[in-house]
Amino acid sequence: MPLGIDPAPPDIKKGVCFKRPNKFLGMGSRALARSGRIGLGESGKKERLFFLLMDPLDSYLLDALQFLRDSPDGNKGVVAAGIIDGERVVYATSVRAEDGKRWKHAERAVLEKYFSEFGEMPSENAVAVTTLSMCIKESPHRAGASCSDLLSGRDPEMPMEGAFKRVHVGYVDPLQAESIETYGAFGFAEISVSKEPIVALACKKLSDYFSPGTYGKVDKTAYLKEALSGI
Ligand SMILES: [Zn+2]
Repeated sequence: MPLGIDPAPPDIKKGVCFKRPNKFLGMGSRALARSGRIGLGESGKKERLFFLLMDPLDSYLLDALQFLRDSPDGNKGVVAAGIIDGERVVYATSVRAEDGKRWKHAERAVLEKYFSEFGEMPSENAVAVTTLSMCIKESPHRAGASCSDLLSGRDPEMPMEGAFKRVHVGYVDPLQAESIETYGAFGFAEISVSKEPIVALACKKLSDYFSPGTYGKVDKTAYLKEALSGI
């Protein structure tokens, strides 16, 4: 279990969805507190349901998705990332860069946000989550180095003493990597992909925004609303 991540309560089956029973009220578990949504309960009526219990890193990915859903439209993109560093947790979306032309990817945006909030770079125990796996390839549309270089501490403009050793992604970007193993070359000690259906499905839908048949042909606001309607 990575440092800084709340362990799952031991008596709850992973991935089981049911109405939050009274005995869990006040348990204070991060995942219990975080992962509620409206769904059909046993009575067939709409009730508030809780997913008990997803991988803690997936609960942070779910938070990142909700952060993306709830962020003002403005200049946001369709990717969200988070940094979990003990009690410090921050999220950011991809945004238009200051030049108004290029995009600042979510991983860079969240790192900058972390630095501006805490005045230092994340500790070596920090974990990164991102809805879409990190970019690798060169791109004229991106501000700065690739997110794989950034998170692995190889971006000379934003060096980190301790790069991220643990990264959890919602979906592997088919435009960037053949599989999650592709990222082994960047030296992450541990990198994983979500197996939580609600998280993985939303992240795949967000990834599909960049597919050739979709990109530039759909309304982004409507696409985001549809992709994130289940979370
Ligand atoms: Zn990127």
